[in-house]
Amino acid sequence: MSAHAVVIGAGRIGSYLGDQPARLTAVGRLTIVDPDAYEPHNLEGQNVTRAALGRAKARVQAAHARAVRPVLEVEALVAAVEDLPQGALRCDLLFTTVDNRLARQWVNCHLAWRLGLRWIDAGIRGSLARVTVFGPAQPGMPCYLCGWSEQHYRTASEALYPCALQRPAGASQAEVGHGMGALAAALQAVEGARMLAGDLSRAGREILFDAEQGTAQVVALTHNPQCRFDHRAYWPEPLDWRGGRLTLAELAGAGGEVRCEGHRFVTRLACPGCGRERQGLWLMGRVTRVASTCRACGQWLEVRGEWVRERVPADGRTVRSVGLRPGDLLGVGGAWLELVAIRAADPCPLLAKEGAGGGPVRSRARDMACGMGGNLPLPPRRQGGGC
Ligand SMILES: [Zn+2]
Ligand SMILES: [Zn+2]
Repeated sequence: MSAHAVVIGAGRIGSYLGDQPARLTAVGRLTIVDPDAYEPHNLEGQNVTRAALGRAKARVQAAHARAVRPVLEVEALVAAVEDLPQGALRCDLLFTTVDNRLARQWVNCHLAWRLGLRWIDAGIRGSLARVTVFGPAQPGMPCYLCGWSEQHYRTASEALYPCALQRPAGASQAEVGHGMGALAAALQAVEGARMLAGDLSRAGREILFDAEQGTAQVVALTHNPQCRFDHRAYWPEPLDWRGGRLTLAELAGAGGEVRCEGHRFVTRLACPGCGRERQGLWLMGRVTRVASTCRACGQWLEVRGEWVRERVPADGRTVRSVGLRPGDLLGVGGAWLELVAIRAADPCPLLAKEGAGGGPVRSRARDMACGMGGNLPLPPRRQGGGC
C-alpha cells in the first residue's frame, strides 16, 4: 500500500504532525497545505527553528518530511484550503490542524464528505487536546456540524481570531502550554496509523485528553438528522479541461448554468480609489494580481456582496480564464464533474512541477504557489496566522 496523506495546517499542531505520516511506511505521498509563513512568535509553540522564519510553513514542513524519508513524494501547497481544487486534496487520509471553525466547516462540507475521505481533525483549547475521527461518508456517520447549535453557526465567523478566543481570559501563552500542539499531533498520528491499518472503529468518535487533569476520554458523536449539512458524497465524472481551453458552454451546454463546489464567482470589481469598475467573471480566491489591480490608479479592487454568484451562465469563457483548475468540482444540472488534466502537455498551472523548463526537480517533489500571486481584498478569513 502506498497511501496519500494530506495535512492541512502547519502551525501549532501541524508543525509537529507533518513528521509522523512521513515516518509511516504505508504513506508514499504527503501533501502539506498552509498559506502562511513562520514568524518569530511561532518559535514559542511550533516545531520550527530560526532558519524557518519568513519561509512558507508548508514548504518548511515539506522539506523536513523529505529529509525524514527521501523516497516520499512530497507536495507543499502554499494556499488556504478553501481556495484549492478538491481534487488536489483527494487522499487516503486527511489530517486537519487548522485554527478556525470556518476552515473546518469548509473541509467538512466541501471536501471530506464530498470526496468520501477518511478525516482526522485536531484542536487544542487551553489544556485540552481534542482529536476527532470522521468518515468515510456512510449513512449514520456524524459530521463535524452534527453537534453544532444555532450558537455555533452564529459565532463561527468570530472564530476568525482563534488565538484570542481559545485562550482562557487572563491566561498567558505560556500558561496554555507549549506542549499541547505536540500532544494533539501525537494523538492524531496514532489514530491515523490505526485508520491506515484498516481499523475504522474510532470513526465518529472524539478523543479528549486533559493535560491539566491527566485524564482521557473517548466520546461517541451522534448523527443529527436535523444537521444543516446534507452529508452527501459526490462521485464526479472526470472531464478533460483541455489545457484550460474548455469553455463553460462546452461543459454545461449553451443556456446552462455552472457552479463550483465550495467556491463562488465574482462578476464585477470596483476601485475604492477612483471608482472605476471592471466587469468579468472570476472564481473568488483565484483572481490574478493583474485582474485585481486598478489600471488607472493601481489600487486593489474590491468586490461587493451583490456581485457574488453561486451559479453563473455557461457562456464562451474558458475554464482557465475564470480561474477554474483541474480538481475543481463543477455542478451542471444534477451532475457533478471534476476537471482533470488528461494530457501531460496540459498541466494545471498551479501544480506545475518545480524545476520545469530545464531545472532539476527536487526528490520527486512538487511545490505549488497558489492564488496566482494575487487575491481579492475580501473579508479576511484569518488573522496573521498567529496560532
Ligand atoms: Zn452533520
Ligand atoms: Zn482606481
